[in-house]
Amino acid sequence: NTFAEIDLGEILNQNIRRCKYVKPTPVQRHAIPIALAGKDLMACAQTGSGKTAAFCFPIISGIMRELYAQRSHVGRTVYPLGLILSPTRELSCQIHDEAKKFSYQTGVKVVVAYGGAPINQQLRELERGVDILVATPGRLVDLLERARVSLQAVRYLALDEADRMLDMGFEPQIRKIVEQMNMPNRGVRQTMLFSATFPREIQRLASDFLSNHIFLAV
Ligand code: AMP
Repeated sequence: NTFAEIDLGEILNQNIRRCKYVKPTPVQRHAIPIALAGKDLMACAQTGSGKTAAFCFPIISGIMRELYAQRSHVGRTVYPLGLILSPTRELSCQIHDEAKKFSYQTGVKVVVAYGGAPINQQLRELERGVDILVATPGRLVDLLERARVSLQAVRYLALDEADRMLDMGFEPQIRKIVEQMNMPNRGVRQTMLFSATFPREIQRLASDFLSNHIFLAV
């Protein structure tokens, strides 16, 4: 099993080689083809399983393929096509670092926004354009309330460590965020939910946010 068999295209394969990934991990081997096929996905994945690449590559690949993937701005509002929600600043920064490597030379721009840090630098970064936004839920709600980000163009949503986000009390923010996404493109959005555990609250999120999803336990 190799990445070449997964068929991510030459640019992404080059980036994978640059990252020195030789073989896909189990979650990558199974999740990437499902996501590339456009299906919603709920996957059981622990830290260290390679889940970041599992959701980043399909998002980057999809955005590269979008015919209308022109970055849009209306006034100071930006319209990301991909959104990755994660529970903490540390995890968001890790995802951002990896996603930047994965998207090297693709033209896909990744920006991170997290709470507990001044917002101004993040606002300036967003103003330069964003295709994939990596964010913690609280900070993203703030950006939405300031109308600096709109989620109406989001085609790809990944929820990372969903169980941890709920443990941290982010469910209301997550629901608020996803509600803003559905307007013109219900059914067009592709959603991937990654979690280490599947308590009833996670299953409820999945049934509210995913459609005809595949459940992956590796
Ligand atoms: P993650 O579970 O996404 O946090 O990844 C854990 C670590 O494994 C990160 O340092 C990744 O860069 C690395 N990694 C992910 N996928 C692969 C792979 N296919 N081959 C080698 N290392 C990988």
